[in-house]
Amino acid sequence: MDVKDLFLKYVTFDTQSDESSKTCPSTVGQRIFADYLAEQLKAIGMEDVSVDRNGYVTATLPGNCGKSNIPVIGFIAHLDTSPEMSGKNVNPRIVVYDGEDIILNKRRNIVLSSGIFPELNDYLGQEIIVTDGNTLLGADDKAGIAAIVSAMKYLTDHAEIRHGKVRVAFTPDEEIGRGADRFDVGHFGCDWAYTVDGGAVGDLEYENFNAAIARITFKGRNVHPGYAHKKMINAIHLSAEVIRRIPYKMRPENTRGREGFYHVISVRGSVEEAGLTLLIREHDSEKFELKKSMLKSLSEDVASKAGTTFVCEIKDQYYNMREIVAPQKAILHIAKKAMRSVGIRPAVKPVRGGTDGARLSYMGLPCPNLFSGGLNFHGRYEFLPVRSLEKSRETIIGIIAQMYRSRRLVCPSKNQSYSK
Ligand SMILES: [Zn+2]
Repeated sequence: MDVKDLFLKYVTFDTQSDESSKTCPSTVGQRIFADYLAEQLKAIGMEDVSVDRNGYVTATLPGNCGKSNIPVIGFIAHLDTSPEMSGKNVNPRIVVYDGEDIILNKRRNIVLSSGIFPELNDYLGQEIIVTDGNTLLGADDKAGIAAIVSAMKYLTDHAEIRHGKVRVAFTPDEEIGRGADRFDVGHFGCDWAYTVDGGAVGDLEYENFNAAIARITFKGRNVHPGYAHKKMINAIHLSAEVIRRIPYKMRPENTRGREGFYHVISVRGSVEEAGLTLLIREHDSEKFELKKSMLKSLSEDVASKAGTTFVCEIKDQYYNMREIVAPQKAILHIAKKAMRSVGIRPAVKPVRGGTDGARLSYMGLPCPNLFSGGLNFHGRYEFLPVRSLEKSRETIIGIIAQMYRSRRLVCPSKNQSYSK
């Protein structure tokens, strides 16, 4: 079961998620794909295969080494593709990248060029899978699913590779932010897990933003504009004043790396009442708290200078998983070791967003993110180098093998029971 062939089969399923849907999975295509995967997992000899009523697929690769002191680990990927572009009738093509522009669609003049996507140059001479320019590819995250299924198949075929118990999960609706919502962490029963949902080969992510959403509303006082002198308070201007006073350097377009930001996403209102909604993002938790309190005191200042009142509601959305993942050193150590053992240099990068793994980490399942190999996600220029996909699969196998080899390291105390 070649990992490339698995991937090419998986992209024939249309699993685009839909934010406007109230059901879970949000689209029926995901359910169909989930049922297909469950059958495939059974066929390769996985145990406890199930699709729950929300479309979450889970399965077990039983341990084969007779040791119960090895932590149970999991691998997670998502079933859906981005709502930003169609994932129906995906028509993938394999090309060997020779440095020339790749014509994705001659009729529509859609070209994949290293002038716009310089990362292509990292894959000179390699096979890459591209789209026909009409749809996305779906490597996000079908590459992750293919890597996991192919790794499981390899391990069921190769009993000589000793390992502990391993769980896998395929989740719906990650792209619309619901992937962790109905994830049953207890049923999954792992000490930790890895989402296989990252980009370029080597990516290992365990830092993401702390995130909050703020809604600020100012009370105005409307009177006839011709007779407004010293009477009118225009709430629209107060909202604008908040935006004006947000430091230029703290806008998303002026930040990168570990720099946080305020992102104004909407402005609404009338003279009588107006307000704005902002996203607050920051890796560092102290700076995160500071950004929230700065916004409150800024609004307070604007309101009091105008002699009116305001409401500022700030709701936390998710937190940086670093605080959960980093203290358990084995989680990252094993992943890095596995990558090096298959000839990859781990590239640890902070995520400028959130991941399902971040939410799962705070639900009790520490969960960093591993590369699946794809690039340019969510659009027609998405592509997947075949060798990167193979390395993703090898890394998964490597992590599982490392868990057995490093079992003394991951279980320092004999009394500590990891068996579940
Ligand atoms: Zn993804």
